Amino acid sequence: MRKQLILISDMEGASGIFDQHQKELLNGEDAWREQGREKMTSDILAVCDAANEFGIDEILYYDGHFAGNPEFNVIKEKLPSNVRYFDVPDRCFDWRRIRGQAEVEPFGLITVGQHARNGEKEAYFAHTIQSPPIKALLVNDLHVAEIGMAILNFQRVPYIANIGCAASEREALELSPKVKHISVKDKGQNWEPNAEETYPIIKKGVLEALENAHKAEPANITPPYHFKLDLCKYFYFKDPESFPWKGSFTEKVATWEAPSIEMGFELFHYVRENISISEEDKEKLIKERLAGTYDPME
Ligand SMILES: [Zn+2]
Repeated sequence: MRKQLILISDMEGASGIFDQHQKELLNGEDAWREQGREKMTSDILAVCDAANEFGIDEILYYDGHFAGNPEFNVIKEKLPSNVRYFDVPDRCFDWRRIRGQAEVEPFGLITVGQHARNGEKEAYFAHTIQSPPIKALLVNDLHVAEIGMAILNFQRVPYIANIGCAASEREALELSPKVKHISVKDKGQNWEPNAEETYPIIKKGVLEALENAHKAEPANITPPYHFKLDLCKYFYFKDPESFPWKGSFTEKVATWEAPSIEMGFELFHYVRENISISEEDKEKLIKERLAGTYDPME
């Protein structure tokens, strides 16, 4: 049977990108073009090289960092010829369009360049989709960020490996306890290797994970799906006037229920449209963030 591997990447958890390199993450900036993309490409290439050595036929790839921008965060010319890209306009998080393009039963899924969720300790660029304003997003009590979104939208697909910041391991393991985690940086241990150093670590780890793929499991989550969105300090939900809501809004928390994960995440986009902040609080937020005193978990 043809083996199709699903690869989903973010960038905050890429090799060699530490706190002082924030500009390398800004899609379109010079630092991103010259350094960030190179580091990211090295990680993706390590996964692809391992996959091809193992005998994967096709790698179907979604580059989700800065979704909404057309430019890729990887240098496509450097990747092997059996890498195909999900066809989504401007790389938007259109999960049904993404899931629908993959095989019904792909060989498995690997996440790369992953960062930790908002609130995780000893993490590089921890956030949940966008923090602030999002403090936490829960699906059936599981705090999901970018890794969770990818894994849950590929339900029933074995989750083989996660590569990224050491602190991203917790989310990956909560989704699927058998997933193999490969760290490329660890703030707690002050381990900051460069991309040349992590390339062989990633390649070796992914190869091992692929050889053990028969033991990998998909996320264990069953309907009905209860979603809950919590907001950071200063943000609130304005009352939606006419939304046929199967859920609730309070000032800080929205809940909704959906018969499928995909629908639940689609509703999440509508819920997000109701997030608001006053002009006065916006100024406070900017000042506190500049001073480093803003706590997105407060
Ligand atoms: Zn990102």
